[in-house]
Amino acid sequence: MKKNEIHNWLREQNPDHLDQLWQQADLTRQQVVGDAVHLRGLIEISNHCVRQCEYCGLRSNRKTLQRYRMDEQEIMRCVAQAVEFAYGTVVIQAGEDYGIKTQWLADIVNRIKSQTPLAVTLSMGERPVEDLRTWRQAGADRYLLRFETSDPQLYQKIHPPQPSQTWDRFDLLTELRKLGYEIGSGVMIGIPGQTFDSLADDIDIFRRLDLDMIGVGPYISHPDTPLAQRQPSPDLPTEDQVPDSELMVYKVIALARLVCPEANIPSTTALATMNTASGRELGLVRGANVVMPNLTPTKYRQLYEIYPDKACIHETAGHCRNCLQQRIESLGRYIATGSGGRDHHTENRKRCNTLAK
Ligand code: SAH
Repeated sequence: MKKNEIHNWLREQNPDHLDQLWQQADLTRQQVVGDAVHLRGLIEISNHCVRQCEYCGLRSNRKTLQRYRMDEQEIMRCVAQAVEFAYGTVVIQAGEDYGIKTQWLADIVNRIKSQTPLAVTLSMGERPVEDLRTWRQAGADRYLLRFETSDPQLYQKIHPPQPSQTWDRFDLLTELRKLGYEIGSGVMIGIPGQTFDSLADDIDIFRRLDLDMIGVGPYISHPDTPLAQRQPSPDLPTEDQVPDSELMVYKVIALARLVCPEANIPSTTALATMNTASGRELGLVRGANVVMPNLTPTKYRQLYEIYPDKACIHETAGHCRNCLQQRIESLGRYIATGSGGRDHHTENRKRCNTLAK
């Protein structure tokens, strides 16, 4: 799909035309990654952060937020739940927190890999390549690092670099790939200042990076952040601004599936936050094949406040498991077994092709 086609879809309003997009994306999803839905248990291990991202409620100078960092025992209890609930993967996520020592996390990854069948995905922000290597050697399988937007000016504004920083998120994604991780990235949709043209670029870049995982969700304004307080730029015509709407998120999920057919694509919590009744389901029938039930202990969930009023923050891990199972089965889909890396789909497809011959 060419960039101008992506652009046209992003601006498409006609519901009948959009139905074609949903159908194409759902068919591609079904043919390439199948009806299985992979569950990734999310453990948000720390909300400390050194960065000043203008959109994020964890930003370091948000002094009112009570900070936490889970200890090894707490993390391993969540991991045990992931095994009990038959999740294939745990996703360990945090703010960019250098209180998380490299070797400490490597030991935890090693423990998970040697004691359980789980795949381990890390999402720890922009750590030095040495740290990424140590964690990979400890057994980490995948790394998530959204590039948030490919518009360099907008990115600089909303995601100020660290002093003396010489690399960007694209460099890190390349390094992660070289280290042998499966790589995941993605963007927020509807960031103030984000144009249709730059969002079309973002999706084209998913294809060029050949991403293994693509996480996209709506930008949700957090009132206690600078981006929420900033006035819209007078230079940007309103018709060029990408809306932070639910419909735009479905369009990006569907287009992501079409440009990266083999990718693992979650129907995200941010989407469920926008539409509690059916956001997750609509994501799953418009290209997504993954959901990420939360395993973070309830007392910490509300403190991992990247944006306010996150879906499901008061639910127990067991409740999330059952609720998601019902939602998945209501679509005639089923919960996957196994760790569900991209290789799995490739092998699956090769097997199907061989059987078909
Ligand atoms: N420190 C890690 C994890 C950050 S939280 C990192 O930087 O990669 C994970 C994702 O939450 C971010 O990549 C961002 O896309 C999303 N996020 C942060 N603030 C948000 C907001 N206000 N609305 C929607 N998504 C947000």
